[in-house]
Formats: sequence, C-alpha cells, structure tokens
Amino acid sequence: MESKPKNTATRVSPVPDASDLNAVEQRFLALEQSFALNRPKEDVAKLRTAFEFARDQHVGQSRRSGESYIFHPIAVAQILVDMNMDLVCVETALLHDVVEDTGITIEEIRKRFGNEVAICVDGVTKLGKIQLYSREEQQAESVRKMLLAMVGDIRVILVKLSDRLHNLRTIGSLSREKQTRIGQETLDIYAPIAHRLGMGKVRAELEDLAFGAIDPEGQADILAQIEHKRKASLEFLEGIQKSVEQKLARESIPARVECRLKRPYSVYLKLKKQKIPIEQVYDLLALRIISDSLKNCYGALGVIHNEWPPIPGRIKDFIAMPRQNGYQSLHTSVMGPGGQAFEVQIRTEEMHRLAEEGVAAHWKYKEGRKGKSTEEQYVNWMRQLIEWQQEMRDPGEFMSTLKVDLYSDEVYVFTPKGKVVVLPRDSTPVDFAYYIHSDVGNACVGSKVNNRIVQLKYSLKNGDVVEVLTQPGHMPSKDWLGFVKTSKARNKIKQIINATERSKSIEIGEKYFEKEARRLSISISKLDEGILAQVLEDYGLSKLEDIFANLGYGKLEARPILMRFAPERAHEEEVKEELAHAAIVAPEAVDKNLKNLALRVKGMNDVLIYRAICCNPIPGEAIVGYITRGKGVAVHSLSCSNVQNLMYEVERKIDVEWAKTGVESFDVQISITTDDRPGMLAQFTQVLFSENSNIRSLEARGDEERGGDGAVVDMKIEVRDKRQLEKILSALRRIPGVRDIERKS
Ligand code: MN
Repeated sequence: MESKPKNTATRVSPVPDASDLNAVEQRFLALEQSFALNRPKEDVAKLRTAFEFARDQHVGQSRRSGESYIFHPIAVAQILVDMNMDLVCVETALLHDVVEDTGITIEEIRKRFGNEVAICVDGVTKLGKIQLYSREEQQAESVRKMLLAMVGDIRVILVKLSDRLHNLRTIGSLSREKQTRIGQETLDIYAPIAHRLGMGKVRAELEDLAFGAIDPEGQADILAQIEHKRKASLEFLEGIQKSVEQKLARESIPARVECRLKRPYSVYLKLKKQKIPIEQVYDLLALRIISDSLKNCYGALGVIHNEWPPIPGRIKDFIAMPRQNGYQSLHTSVMGPGGQAFEVQIRTEEMHRLAEEGVAAHWKYKEGRKGKSTEEQYVNWMRQLIEWQQEMRDPGEFMSTLKVDLYSDEVYVFTPKGKVVVLPRDSTPVDFAYYIHSDVGNACVGSKVNNRIVQLKYSLKNGDVVEVLTQPGHMPSKDWLGFVKTSKARNKIKQIINATERSKSIEIGEKYFEKEARRLSISISKLDEGILAQVLEDYGLSKLEDIFANLGYGKLEARPILMRFAPERAHEEEVKEELAHAAIVAPEAVDKNLKNLALRVKGMNDVLIYRAICCNPIPGEAIVGYITRGKGVAVHSLSCSNVQNLMYEVERKIDVEWAKTGVESFDVQISITTDDRPGMLAQFTQVLFSENSNIRSLEARGDEERGGDGAVVDMKIEVRDKRQLEKILSALRRIPGVRDIERKS
C-alpha cells in the first residue's frame, strides 16, 4: 500500500530542515486546537505525547511527494478530528504507521499509550498488510480479515478509511499503475464499506478521488460536461432556492436550503448505466432542504409539489423506509420553470448528520440516547458477514454476496399488514420469507404477490405486497439456492440441507455399524465407554453420532473402529481377511450395485462404495470417487460429464482404485449401427462367444427413425474390464457392414 514508505515512498534525508519542523509543529497545533474545541473533556496533553513519539519515529522518512512523512499521520488525524472522533481514535491515527514503518512493537505502544490505542494501532497495521487487489479467494479472505478487525473496534476502520482518503488526496506523485490499483481497490472495497457504514461524505470523496486515479481522462470529460452546465444551472437553482425559502417561510416551516450539483462519479455512473446524455440526468441539480422535524419535512414536500409538478415515479420516502445503512430523507424530482427538472432532498438536521457521517456520528454522540443501538446495528451486520463467510466455502460466492450486501440496490415491499421490508434488488418471495423468520422461510411452499400466486423465484418489485404460503413441516429445497439473493436465506437453507443430510447419514452409518458389529459378534449396546472416549478422541469427534455420520458419508470405515472394542478378535479377522478375495465387500444395505465390488477407496477398506449409474465404469478405466451425502462413495469414470459438475466440491473428491480380482464381470450397454442384412446377429454373437463374453440382452430394430436404411442393435454384454471391452468392440467393428458402435453405459 502506498502509505508504506519502505517500498514506495521513503527517501531518507538525514537532517530535517528547520522550516519543515516548524510547518509540522504548526500543523499539529491546528490539530490540537480543533480537538480541544470538539472534545473539551478529554486529556489533550496525550495528543502531544503521541504526536511527538510518531514524529521522532518517522524522523528522516519522507513521502513520495518529498514532504516529511509525519505530515501524513497528522493529516489523517485531522480528518478524524473533523469527524469529531475521540482521543483513542486520534492517537491511533497519529501512530498508525509507526509499527509498520519503524522498529516499534505493539507492546511498546501498549506500554506508552494504553491497551485501547494498542489494539487499534494493531488493527490498522494488520489491515495495511492485507492484499486486497488479488485473486477472488484471497480477496474474500482479506475482506474477512478486515471485517474481523472492524468488529474488534470500529475505530480501526475509521482510521483506515481516513488513511486511504489522505493517500488518495496525495496520490498524484505515484506511478500510473499504482494509482489505478489503489483507485480500483478503493472502489471495490473501501467506498462500499464507507457506504454501508452510512458515511456518505467519506464515501463520496473516496469515489471521486478513486475515479480520478483510475480514469483521469474520463473524469476530466465528465467535469467538463458538468462545468458546461454549471453556471446556467447554478443561476437557475439559486432562483429556485430564493423562491423556496420564501414559500417555506410563508408556511412557517423553519428550514435551511442548499444547492448542490451531483458529484462527478455519480454522474459518470448514471451516464454509463442509463446510456443517456447529461441533459437527461434529472438529479444533476439538487436542492436540499433541512428542516427541524418530521412533520415539517413532509410539509416542505407539500410546498414543493404545490409549486412544481412532481415527475411520476421519482418520489421516494426514505424516511418511512430507511435504506439499509440507515439513510433517511425524502427525495422528489420536479419539473421546474422552463421545463428544467431538478431534484429536492428533504430531511431533518439529525438525518442530515447521519447521512454525512454515518457510524462516526453515532460515535460522536455516544453518550447521548440513540448512539449505541445504531452502532450495534452496523457491528451486527459485520458479525453476520463474517459468520456467512466462514460457512461459504466458495470465495466467489462470498464476494458476490458481499457485493449484494454492500451495494444493495434495494427493493421495498410490504407485508400484508403494510409493514415495509427492505431487500436487495431481485430478491424473491423466499428471501422475503426468510427475512420475516427462518421458520417462515423453511416452511414456505408458495407465495402470493398482490394477491396473485407467483413462482418462488419471482423477482420482487417495489411496492409489491407479499404473502408467504406455508405448510408446517415443509423443508427448503436445494433449488432455492439457485435464486435467493439475501445471505440470510442462503445461509439458512444451507444449514437445513446440511442438517437433513447429516441425519440421513447418521441413520445409514448406524445401520452399517450395527451390521458390521453383528458380523463380528460385538454387542453395540455394551460398548466400553472408556474405549469409546479414546476412539472419539483419536478421530477428533465428540460423540458416537459423529462416528455414524462419518460412516454414512463414507469418510470412515466401521471395522477398524469396532476392532478397538474387541482387540482379541483382531487376529482372527486378519486371517479371514487374507482368505477373502481382495475386492471389497460392501454391505448390501444401500444398493444392489454395491455387492462384490472390485473397487476400493485408496487406503481404506469397507467403505460404502458403488459404481455410478450414469457412466458405469469398468475395471481398467480411470476412475474417481465422490463422497455422496448419505450413500457412501460413488465411483465415476473420469470422462463422465457428471464428474465435472460434481467435483466443484473438492473436499468430497476421494481417490479410488480397482482392486485386483479376476472373478467379476460387469454389464455394459452398447449400441451397434449396421447394414440390415441376414446373418449379422449371428456374427455378433460369434465374436462375443470367442471373446468369452455373454450377452445379457439384445434388441434389434430398424433405424428408420434416424432416416437410415440400416438397423440398430442394442446389446447388454458382460465384460471383465476395459481391455476385454476394447477387444470385443474392435472385433465387432471389423465385421463387414458394421457402421458404428457406441457405448451407452
Ligand atoms: Mn498511512
């Protein structure tokens, strides 16, 4: 990261010059003063201690721009003082690069500045080491680490965001390549996090700076377009502003009215997304009315609509339906004089502060009544994300969930009783059901939207009234994972599916265990508890049920476990084992196909194992095992197309091999296309006879349906292995008149 002087920004000048020192001191004095003003109750002397320590540690280091390094931490601290943050936070800002860039340890920070500061500095240092601009799985892991650090203390991310803000403000001296990387990382991770924490002002500045860092020409182009309209726009808007102020005063609505132009990055996104010229951006110009109460906000909206007609579909009530990040405001776009449209945002003073500062505003008024609970809400969001991330094995999936959660274009729908529910865009009735309650989600069998039955994958629209049809005892379907949008729904569905599969596996595993126990004449009702405890410990499991589950999944085999309870039988068994042929005899319980299989899982005996029906592998073919849920190990041919689909869950893949046995045969289905003439069938059977194979079934028909003049012969034949099959096939192909042979399974 660009703030690390070691690899990017350091130039060592041995003696700092006096004028520089003086400028540093001036900068710090300004910081100290504003802090003392904002937080008169805190011990401002501590700030100087932290400053002097940081200054002395960074002495001789300078930034790429050439100025002394210490200017950077002071600037970061100033950003946080301007957000009205507390002493610990500002101390952390001053010290945030000390551990990374000098030889100082966290322990030393703790000794000098206390535990809280040490924790925060440690958090910021760790965040700095995270590689965000990387492959998806690494990125997911990085984001998880960031979230963990944030949950530890929200001030960590506030310092980090301010650090990033200052780095972007001074990014000009870095190489093009670094600017692009830092800009992209900001747009991908930091700006969305600022947004999710409700910090509108920081997010806006991060985005605009990052935009400039990534695409300077694009930004210049947008700025030129805005500039072109600026003068006329502002004149127009100021006229409106006066008129609005008068009208509000006449209605005795106290209000502050501000004009604003949409910021460059928002304009850019809008032009790109909607593919429209700048003339059609309705909210390029905006008027902001900040009033004192809810009632007066709605009153002001009435005043505006009374004067200028609202543009249909552009009125948004984020007061009644706050955005997920807590943002509240009334938005409307109206048609002004001369057909010039503009946007009006109306909010209270408190809503305004929250929109600008988000979680930082809560911190500021922490002593006050509301602060804590809303901050908790942000922290809870992060905790949930971390939990989900741990459960989602697929990093790509996590990143996309995260993006849905962070960017969350939202859809507002209603319960039948009129309660508003905010969901990510394209959410479905299933997401809605899980939002209401997990039990409602699990039991969901159908849904009505605006009184009409819809499919469960219906994508909800703003204003839909959603009703969930439930049936007690119903279980969620795996298919739902294909369309749900919210992490909550996804997570709950997976939990249930895993739990059901586990209980199935336990059932199968227990039967298998009992059966094996009977074979070995071990009574499982009298298992020695001491031995059981030892066995569980050895396998890293906590109860007998876990053993059953693992047996059912095919991850463990029953015999070695049972042997532990009857060591005196171990020898007997060994002898028997030698007598038996090397192939593995699987219990009959699961599938007929399981019997007398010449297959084994590498390194294990007695695992539930069967040949997959789809590809019907035979000895000699390259195979791979897949641990099914509750049915043991399915063995597929490596060339089976299902394998590609299944193997995305890498941890369920298992090595299997053909056991050495000569006694078995396998059925293979082949289909021969041939000339339709007498004597063909006799020649086929002759080939099979001479190759020592049997025909299990045979069916011949004309191939008119394929538009041919020949015949198709379907045969099920018995083969020992791949080699024999190949011999038979090539012998069949040599018969004159045979056009094509296909193996069906
Ligand atoms: Mn820094």
